[in-house]
Amino acid sequence: MIQLKNREQLELMRQAGRITGEALLKAGEAVHEGVTTRKLDGIIRAYIESCGAIPSFLGYGGFPSSACISVNDEVIHGIPSDRVLQEGDIVKIDVGACYRGYHGDSARTFPVGRVSAEAKRLITATRDSFYKAIEKAVPGNRLGDIGHAVESHVTEFGYSVVRQYVGHGIGRSLHEQPDVPNYGKPGHGPRLMRGMVLAVEPMVNVGAPEVRVLQNGWTVVTVDGSLSAHFEHTVAITEDGPVLLTDVE
Ligand code: MG
Ligand code: MG
Repeated sequence: MIQLKNREQLELMRQAGRITGEALLKAGEAVHEGVTTRKLDGIIRAYIESCGAIPSFLGYGGFPSSACISVNDEVIHGIPSDRVLQEGDIVKIDVGACYRGYHGDSARTFPVGRVSAEAKRLITATRDSFYKAIEKAVPGNRLGDIGHAVESHVTEFGYSVVRQYVGHGIGRSLHEQPDVPNYGKPGHGPRLMRGMVLAVEPMVNVGAPEVRVLQNGWTVVTVDGSLSAHFEHTVAITEDGPVLLTDVE
């Protein structure tokens, strides 16, 4: 069942979203050659806890860290570690924060120093596909309109969307109904309604769409080893258009 949020609930989600977005920005500012992914995770945890919130991912299904940090061909669910970021890497940081019972969820892909032209193009196309998608995130449209917008944008570049993992509703739970795939048929799927809150999150590969999970049971990588990018905001559907609850810029 899709849980619609009332005005008070949306206000709480805005607060959770702000903490999430700020934690992500702080980690992004610390992305440099020579930094470990564990260090970035520590920055995120400290910031979220300083706001009186809880890192949503810590312990979720047994996940061992506060943020998912995934490098290059790692798509999502990378576990922070002693891995040192190198110039030319692209690093995906995915953050969730729970504040007064409501979650925010947001992800970005950051370049480490100078990166290849392909990496830049991938990051930009992934981000742009999100903004194309949320143009469709208005009451009366269908969920398929969102996924179709993502996929049709990135396939123009020869890229593919990950199909095995999808966006999701969000609220009191980190993952709620409905699933929000990054593909779909225009005019199909559940109707979008005022009060829905969705984590819209394109996951885009330079190469083929197939992914697999590493032996650690978490980290999702591209099967062909190609680069992958991720961009996510928590989006409220309102009569005045989509509101990005995790956007603090
Ligand atoms: Mg996320
Ligand atoms: Mg998410």
